[in-house]
Amino acid sequence: MFPPGVAEIVVAVCGLCIGSFLNVCIHRLPSGTSIVFPASRCPACAHVLAWSDNIPLGSYVVLGGRCRYCRAPISARYPIVEALTGVLFLVHWYLFGPTPLLFVRLAFACALVVLFAIDLEHQILPNVITVPGIVVGLICSLFLPPGPLMSVAGFALGGGLLWAIAEGWYRLRKVEAMGFGDVKMLAMIGAFLGVKLVILTFVLSSMIGGVVAVVLVALRRADMATKVPFGTMLALAALVASLYGDRLVAWYLGAL
Ligand SMILES: [Zn+2]
Repeated sequence: MFPPGVAEIVVAVCGLCIGSFLNVCIHRLPSGTSIVFPASRCPACAHVLAWSDNIPLGSYVVLGGRCRYCRAPISARYPIVEALTGVLFLVHWYLFGPTPLLFVRLAFACALVVLFAIDLEHQILPNVITVPGIVVGLICSLFLPPGPLMSVAGFALGGGLLWAIAEGWYRLRKVEAMGFGDVKMLAMIGAFLGVKLVILTFVLSSMIGGVVAVVLVALRRADMATKVPFGTMLALAALVASLYGDRLVAWYLGAL
């Protein structure tokens, strides 16, 4: 119906624009300000940004990574999140095609991008994403994979597993290993992906966390007491599980 390549270009441009919106969420959600109002301003000089300052990737490149009005450097997070979201949209398009599940998994991926960036920067996982995320994941599973039963089981296992670890660690060491943001985030992942892929997400996130910890300690950037933002690892692992989880699990079970 379209010449080859047109659909991909539309999908990528949608991804870039949504990525631009995710940047607003990442910037504003931790401080609790509205994501729709007021208009975007330069964080350095507070000048209101024109539409031409907000073109995904384009404005950053044309302006050389600086504010048009005060020349203050713009965080590299903006073009990185935009480009990442564009790529994620394309990968989802190739894997899911024009199906209802595509839209569900794209919404899920967008939530993960925001949680990834906010946890990395602020070590918090805002309830305004995880709690509605749980509800949306459960409702969508009534009509789409993983199905309502697997979704509820994934929600319960994801939340219950981390809750038990946090509670056990607290009783053992009297320090909080993780906040309850992680518990709600893994419960959300379980609601969207189901019980099988929430287990995969937990295993993958532990592996990613282990590798990151070893690298940081080796680089002397951290010691054993450094808190690694676990939500950031969970977001990465959940993205892999959402996109390639079924294949990974089939490959693992076949290799046994
Ligand atoms: Zn400025």
